[in-house]
Amino acid sequence: MMPTPVILLKEGTDTSQGVPQLVSNINACQVIAEAVRTTLGPRGMDKLIVDNRGKATISNDGATILKLLDVVHPAAKTLVDIARSQDAEVGDGTTSVTLLAAEFLKQLKPYVEEGLHPQTIIRAFRIATQLAVKKIKEIAVTIKKDDKQEQRQLLEKCAATALNSKLIAGQKDFFSKMVVDAVMMLDDLLQLKMIGMKKVQGGALEDSQLVAGVAFKKTFSYAGFEMQPKRYENPKIALLNIELELKAEKDNAEVRVNNVEACGGSIQTSVGSLTDDVLGLCELFEEVQVGGERYNFFKGCPKAKTCTIILRGGAEQFMEETERSLHDAIMIVRRAIKNDSIVAGGGAIEMELSKYLRDYSRTIPGKQQLLIGAYAKALEVIPRQLCDNAGFDATNILNKLRAKHAQGGMWYGVDVNNEDIADNFQACVWEPAIVRINALTAASEAACLILSVDETIKNPRSSVDAPPVPAGRGRGRGRPPHAH
Ligand code: ADP
Ligand code: MG
Repeated sequence: MMPTPVILLKEGTDTSQGVPQLVSNINACQVIAEAVRTTLGPRGMDKLIVDNRGKATISNDGATILKLLDVVHPAAKTLVDIARSQDAEVGDGTTSVTLLAAEFLKQLKPYVEEGLHPQTIIRAFRIATQLAVKKIKEIAVTIKKDDKQEQRQLLEKCAATALNSKLIAGQKDFFSKMVVDAVMMLDDLLQLKMIGMKKVQGGALEDSQLVAGVAFKKTFSYAGFEMQPKRYENPKIALLNIELELKAEKDNAEVRVNNVEACGGSIQTSVGSLTDDVLGLCELFEEVQVGGERYNFFKGCPKAKTCTIILRGGAEQFMEETERSLHDAIMIVRRAIKNDSIVAGGGAIEMELSKYLRDYSRTIPGKQQLLIGAYAKALEVIPRQLCDNAGFDATNILNKLRAKHAQGGMWYGVDVNNEDIADNFQACVWEPAIVRINALTAASEAACLILSVDETIKNPRSSVDAPPVPAGRGRGRGRPPHAH
């Protein structure tokens, strides 16, 4: 059976009502899921997206891809929004959340077509989500914070799992250490903006470095600068809002803001009163060569704990994707420090929840049983897609997983290296529990939201340019003379 064709572009917005409208919205969401489906997991593929100005982006990140797709279908946009909010809330799991929401809708579509009232479905889904979240909290494993060694290991593993599915998976050991080092340098607030990220084209990925402090591109360019020392210990830093050299104002502004936060001191507009209290401090200042650029490093800043990652690598798109991937990993490490409870990934947690909900559904009568069963079935989309993307026989692996979980193999998930299943907790495929909790709640809320919409009313004017302002009504000019 062919699904109704879905047009995501502007001219095709439908105006149907009731069940056909619901079905059409559900179909639109399937199209969104198709767009990101193949990117899930360590064996997922990347997408190359070219925008209307010809700028190419290569990405594996669900939120990035969906943002660039410029979706106009009103219901399908909901999925784009939850991917974005997942990105903002927890920074990872954006593909998973989209797939889950679409799969929820796909599984309940037969019930909608049969005429089951959406509110009945919504009620069942809310119950299922609550139960699932409770279950995750119950089985998540907490890692003791007191043991620094153990905590560091945990963090590196979480970062590595996040990087597994990215272009830089080959360098995940290198980068997961760097990411953990970077986050460890921050203070308790763990502010994301305190980790700077600079890209210098050229060199190998492994030439990337972490600077314990502020770093930016800048060359000394005053007369005789070649002769001056390029290294100062414990210098005082004057932050001047005046031009000592000709330089783009934007760069200078960034430099000042970063330095004020990190080194202390305040910005001066003249050199007349440079007393100690307006000067900043750091332990070491250096001007060094990074690839083809000169960089200023301010290390050991006393005021704020900041650090800067200087990325090296080939193509620009590649470095941009590296930056996004590191961002994911940094978010995960921050999450894991704040909430130190983790679950096993690779579909393990989804299979366990699926089993739990299926067992639960058997204890209740009627439609709710079917609906919670549908929810349980939808959760299997994650391990199934991981298999599909790795080229495995998904049916076979899922059968094995179901059997294993029925026997109490709680953390068994897909083993992407050998076409098989494995205890992913032992294999250290770990993810913070919060990522899965957020993904489940957001996906189920999105599904419920889409179900509760049974009509789209489109104002035909809204898409064309605003009508011209009637003559004589504008502000100021053109006012009729008698109004004075
Ligand atoms: P998302 O945008 O949802 O984070 P990813 O492409 O990062 O999508 O894929 C995440 C999925 O891949 C998670 O379900 C995670 O558990 C799984 N995964 C990551 N590393 C591994 C691994 N080594 N083996 C099996 N599954 C993995
Ligand atoms: Mg991920």
